[in-house]
Amino acid sequence: MSGRRILVTGASRGIGRAVAVALSAPETLILLNYKSSTFAAEEAASECRDKGADVRLVQLDVGDGDQVAEVLEPVIKEVGPLDVLVNNAGIARDSLLAWVKPEDWDAVMRVNLGGLYSVTRAAVRGMIRNRAGRIINMTSISGQRGNAGQTPYAASKAGIIGFTKALALELAPRKITVNAVAPGLIDTDMTADLPREELAKAIPMRRFGSPAEVAGAVRFLAGPDAAYITGQVLGVNGGFYT
Ligand code: NAP
Repeated sequence: MSGRRILVTGASRGIGRAVAVALSAPETLILLNYKSSTFAAEEAASECRDKGADVRLVQLDVGDGDQVAEVLEPVIKEVGPLDVLVNNAGIARDSLLAWVKPEDWDAVMRVNLGGLYSVTRAAVRGMIRNRAGRIINMTSISGQRGNAGQTPYAASKAGIIGFTKALALELAPRKITVNAVAPGLIDTDMTADLPREELAKAIPMRRFGSPAEVAGAVRFLAGPDAAYITGQVLGVNGGFYT
């Protein structure tokens, strides 16, 4: 797992931060993206450095294509082609469909799908030249089975699965794998306001997952044992989906 250049989007907090730490190792460069939580991003960077990685903070809104072009593309040009891209940044704007405002719909699509498009597009050219790369996209159980009150989020997360499968077919001849990880309910800021005990009753394992448990699945897909796996959706959900 050494000598690699890795970009993790949305890595200041929650699942992305755990992924960045899990992928950190000596001789690894972590490009640690976040939008606005600079203090949390610096803490995350320090955890990665404790594991021997070099870290570069890349502050930008993945949902803003101009920022991706102006900030991220030059960074990739400077450091060289990415070995691993983890498209983790995501947001939710939850309410019943009748109350979903157009701006909430747009925000979710802009970040969850627009960000996936522009960040992956920026990263993939170098991977194609290199004939190597791993792309891991963070979808959700909500995109697999739906969830009342989450139409924008579920639609965006289902879209991530379609994107993953199409791109996997495109890039398989170039030796680049593209997979998705679909967490169930994970203990992060995103789920902090949910009625935890009530929801846990519906999970066969009777508990929320931890960010580190999702990061383990990402590390597997980014590692040598997953070289022949592409176009797949790996659930990390305590049995919730099945
Ligand atoms: P979180 O705790 O809310 O953290 C979100 C992270 O994404 C933060 O680092 C945040 O940066 C960053 N971010 C948000 N919008 C961004 C943008 N426009 N540009 C760049 N970075 C942005 O979320 P989480 O629970 O860890 O979720 C991570 C991913 O897993 C998301 O895609 C989410 O949909 C998915 N997921 C989560 C769960 C769950 O139960 N938690 C379940 C299934 C799927 P700042 O700190 O700067 O705001």
